[in-house]
Amino acid sequence: MQTATGNNSMIKEIGVIGVGAMGNGIAHVCALNGYKVSIQDIKQEFLDKGLETIQINMTRQVSKGKISENDMDSALNRISDTLKIEELSKCDIVIEAATENPEIKNSIFKKLSDSCKPETILASNTSSISITKIASETNRPNQVIGMHFMNPVPIMELVEVIKGKHTSEGITDTVVELSKSLGKTPVVCNDSPGFVSNRILVPMIN
Ligand code: NAD
Repeated sequence: MQTATGNNSMIKEIGVIGVGAMGNGIAHVCALNGYKVSIQDIKQEFLDKGLETIQINMTRQVSKGKISENDMDSALNRISDTLKIEELSKCDIVIEAATENPEIKNSIFKKLSDSCKPETILASNTSSISITKIASETNRPNQVIGMHFMNPVPIMELVEVIKGKHTSEGITDTVVELSKSLGKTPVVCNDSPGFVSNRILVPMIN
């Protein structure tokens, strides 16, 4: 049974960019754990589909007795949607889960850098792109970090917390605490190709 607390003292409001397979799962666990969540995507139909998926997956959790109907209703009420990235400017952290394409991610991080309040932490759920490189697109490389959730997010407990070359210890600690408050098990690692999980997984598959 998850509790709705939003108990990370530094983080109250979370932005999620891209509500595909990963983004809708990230928004789901953030809202269920008490955080206010703004989801952003490039088309209203993608936002609608993401919200529908979140509702279907939470309804499944209710039917299995993992959460109450009240938990679900409160969580869904905490989620708002927008097509404008600038509307994430007040978020304490933005977690980017858009398509795995360096040009798309670079452009998103440039826009976030220009529009978000100075304290906003910028996180990427990328599986393979260098966090240091993404951070170099911003005006705050010390506040850019990888937050690599596993699929399906509501079920999988591991989160790789990936430190870029300039990520500060304080930001890393905040993101570790945030991950724990989502019921996840964070593992901190450095920015190297494949991070930790894919370094192990790919040789195993081969
Ligand atoms: P997906 O294709 O399911 O969803 C991507 C979403 O990003 C889509 O809704 C798309 O419309 C949106 N998007 C594209 N360009 C955008 C932009 N400029 N602004 C806002 N939204 C935009 O992809 P996914 O599988 O959810 O993967 C997302 C990220 O998570 C990738 O970086 C991927 O490497 C990573 N990841 C994926 C998995 C997995 O198993 N699918 C696991 C871990 C990490």
